[in-house]
Amino acid sequence: MRLLTFTLKGEARIGVLLEPDKIIDLRRAYGWYLLEVQGNPIGEEIASILIPNDMTSFLNCNGSLDVARKTADFVADRLCVKDGTAALRERGVLFLKNEIHLKAPVPRPGALICAGKNFSDHVQEMSAIRNRPAYPVAFPKMPDTIIGPEDDIPYPKETEKLDYEVELAVVIGKPCHNVREEDALDYIAGYATFNDISARDVIRQENQTGILLMGKDFPGFSPMGPYLVLKEEVTDPQNLKLELRVNGEIRQNSNLSYMIFNIAQLVAYWSQLKLRPGDILTTGTPKGVAAGRKEGESPWWLKPGDIVEAEVEGIGCLRNRIIEESGG
Ligand code: MG
Repeated sequence: MRLLTFTLKGEARIGVLLEPDKIIDLRRAYGWYLLEVQGNPIGEEIASILIPNDMTSFLNCNGSLDVARKTADFVADRLCVKDGTAALRERGVLFLKNEIHLKAPVPRPGALICAGKNFSDHVQEMSAIRNRPAYPVAFPKMPDTIIGPEDDIPYPKETEKLDYEVELAVVIGKPCHNVREEDALDYIAGYATFNDISARDVIRQENQTGILLMGKDFPGFSPMGPYLVLKEEVTDPQNLKLELRVNGEIRQNSNLSYMIFNIAQLVAYWSQLKLRPGDILTTGTPKGVAAGRKEGESPWWLKPGDIVEAEVEGIGCLRNRIIEESGG
């Protein structure tokens, strides 16, 4: 199952992707399910309590994923009956993709922890990084940098070296504290595609003090989505292809099997900080970033007008345009 966050007339809602272009409003659908199947006259009121409008709260509700699965099955059955689609449309349960605006599936996680130096080929291409780390290293990124899968990325005036990094976002599904590596995957709700946008010249300057914040945290620096693909749909998350394209040209092309510390090791290690449902860990990125270009090679820095596509096999594709930063 693929969960998502969308807005309709400016209001955020949680949805389920039913077919490539069909989206159900989970709260309305569950209200209808309670009324129709369980005969509960206050189904809508109950649904509004059990299905919050933001994904972090939703993932923190006990049994919320089971409710989503049950509701999606109910709606899928309804679609098969005569005039089912019309009835779902009439009740405001079913939407087409072009009628809504997709946000990041988890627009405001409590924590966004991004692995660095976690692909050996990327460590080699970055002259600023000398050694493969002995333990997982990461930096916190501000959750407010997260944008949707088709939103624009403003080009900050503070940089001349804007870069991209395709990664997998791992979304935590259960409270997770000091878990063992062999149990770690049980604590994951699902996965999404992530692009860790970076202002390399700002980072380089910050690195002189050893503390990093601004170079990774300008507005819109964390495109994510398009869906939260629940883990049961991903057979082998450690063996997915990653690709990043700029204006259609392939820049990064690798596989999560080349991670130095794998997904289970990252979850186990960072669970020392006590992770909560909705928190996000990212995997780090493979080689092919603009900062890895050598002297004499044509530069790959992003510029206004570029279309950046980040894709993880079976998880989804982000397609964001770099735009001139507006004033104010
Ligand atoms: Mg990164």
